[in-house]
Amino acid sequence: MAECEICGKSSYDLSYVKVEGTLFKVCLNCASLGNKVEGYVDKPMKKIPPSIKRREDNQVIVSDYGRRVSVGRQHAGLKQEDLAKKINERLSHIKAVESGKRTPSLKLARKLENALNIVLIERGEI
Ligand SMILES: [Zn+2]
Repeated sequence: MAECEICGKSSYDLSYVKVEGTLFKVCLNCASLGNKVEGYVDKPMKKIPPSIKRREDNQVIVSDYGRRVSVGRQHAGLKQEDLAKKINERLSHIKAVESGKRTPSLKLARKLENALNIVLIERGEI
């Protein structure tokens, strides 16, 4: 078992791809980031191009998260109390998010996305 050099995931199924001229041993998910190199046996370089790192880190909460949560919640037919219970958060926290006073953490944003079938996290592209 080895680790993907881009996302760090352990996998048995790693392949070699070239990204911006640098060779990486990567998992299937990351293979699409580069051009596949067949039958490469030398040790690949470890340096990750900054643009790839940015792609991994570049998860941002949308600026109109409050409106999206509010609309999504009403669409789902839930009261703020119901939503708080559903995702196991404090009601005051939900209220603060909906009113735009408190930007949700990525973790909370993911819970809200799943619970309400909305999009709160944007991923920047290279
Ligand atoms: Zn990977």
